[in-house]
Amino acid sequence: MNYKSTRGKAPDLGIEEAIIKGIASDGGLYVPERFPRIEKSWDELSKLGYKDLAFEVLKPYFESFTGDELRACIDGAYDGKFEAEDIVPVVKAGGAWYLELYHGRTAAFKDMALSMLPYLLTTSMKKTGEKKTVVILVSTSGDTGMAALKGFEDVPGTKIIVFFPDGGVSAVQEKQMRTATGSNVSVLAIRGNFDDAQTTQKKILNDAEFGKEMAGLGFSFTAANSMNIGRLLPQIVYYVWGYVRLVGRGEIKAGDPVNICVPSGNFGNILAGYYAYRMGVPVNRFICASNKNKVLTDFFASGRYDADRPLYQTNAPSMDIIVSSNLERLLYHLEGDPSAVAGYMSRLDGERKYSVSEKTAEGLRLFDGGFATEEEIVEFIGDLYAREHYLVDTHTAVAGKVLSDYRKRTGDETPALIASTASPYKFAQTVAGAIGLPGSGDPFKAFGDLCAATGVPVPGALRGLSERKILHGDTIDKEDMKQRVREILTGKK
Ligand SMILES: *Cc1c(COP(=O)(O)O)cnc(C)c1O
Repeated sequence: MNYKSTRGKAPDLGIEEAIIKGIASDGGLYVPERFPRIEKSWDELSKLGYKDLAFEVLKPYFESFTGDELRACIDGAYDGKFEAEDIVPVVKAGGAWYLELYHGRTAAFKDMALSMLPYLLTTSMKKTGEKKTVVILVSTSGDTGMAALKGFEDVPGTKIIVFFPDGGVSAVQEKQMRTATGSNVSVLAIRGNFDDAQTTQKKILNDAEFGKEMAGLGFSFTAANSMNIGRLLPQIVYYVWGYVRLVGRGEIKAGDPVNICVPSGNFGNILAGYYAYRMGVPVNRFICASNKNKVLTDFFASGRYDADRPLYQTNAPSMDIIVSSNLERLLYHLEGDPSAVAGYMSRLDGERKYSVSEKTAEGLRLFDGGFATEEEIVEFIGDLYAREHYLVDTHTAVAGKVLSDYRKRTGDETPALIASTASPYKFAQTVAGAIGLPGSGDPFKAFGDLCAATGVPVPGALRGLSERKILHGDTIDKEDMKQRVREILTGKK
């Protein structure tokens, strides 16, 4: 299995090199050259635990890993690192099934892949004989940063540098990152928004001269964002898992289609669902849910991507994104022509917009889009809790609301899975307010209030957070990101 760049101007790579490089030298993203079919029956797969299922799903993508190597990566990722016994509980509430992806060490779905990426990366380094220290650059809208910091904490042969938009993440997310421990971690707040951080990070990764300078000092860069294929692949597993749980419990018959609704930002999570579909999971429709930053909703309605708009900061901050990087991969799979994808991306860079071809527009019909305002998010959380005593976070509420709108608009009642992407405690103040608890300026007080009122335990990942010491207090301009990376790596000002 080789991996190709979406823009067609970089050499094909094996999985190890694709993971080590992060993004392709032509600015594209790596994609598998084909989609392996899932061969075992749904009934058979429904009898497997999460880790065994992960092995079945991932094996064909990691052809050059031995079975033992891949198993060690899966064990390393999930053993003792998730609070839910079956890793991803699938819970029915309000007429949909919630895939609870947030029981890992930072209480958001990013843990599903970022707990595995360090193992995939270090195994890849061993296999390719990479001797340099791999520097993982991460720009984050909130949850990726902490999940990456936790995943890479003190992993030998790696350093990790995280950038987050100052004021653009929740109080809990900021506290998590600014208190992150580990001898190989750095965290910097950026004056700017997520797109500023991500765009500058991509430029640093593609800066050949800077890369050479750092290589001379024994460092090579990679990305741990969902731009890295090693992030995307582990995410396929939970869509297969969600499907076979429904089969296993007799909620649907093997082979029956489902709808999948995902709260989307960088489009990585929902794209992993699409990969599961290409591997054979019967999906009737993907519903891409956005907050007020509804660039994807408009895209799926019109086939026109228009990034020329303001970015709003919302109560679902991990989705406050205008340029959704992983859409590039979907365009590649639908278009089948890397030069067309390169054209779209260069128009996006220049004019901030592009329209897709008829062929791609045809493929996009598998997707529907919708968005929820901040008020609708709060209302949805309150309603669902009042009716079912089930608590969801603000991002998951976006998906819940958009799915409900979709059903009303289309009459399509196909059984639906919702990707539940964060613990309600990560956005405790908004969630507490939504279920009618008195407001509090202090997110950590909201933990106690929420727990007392609902009986939902505070996740281990967040307990004791308020007492942790700030270790990373800096806030910098985006123009200074490259220089700061240099200083961190050389230890010189
Ligand atoms: C990252 C994140 C999202 C968006 O996922 P993408 O893969 O970027 O589309 C949604 N919800 C939460 C809680 C997240 O952390």
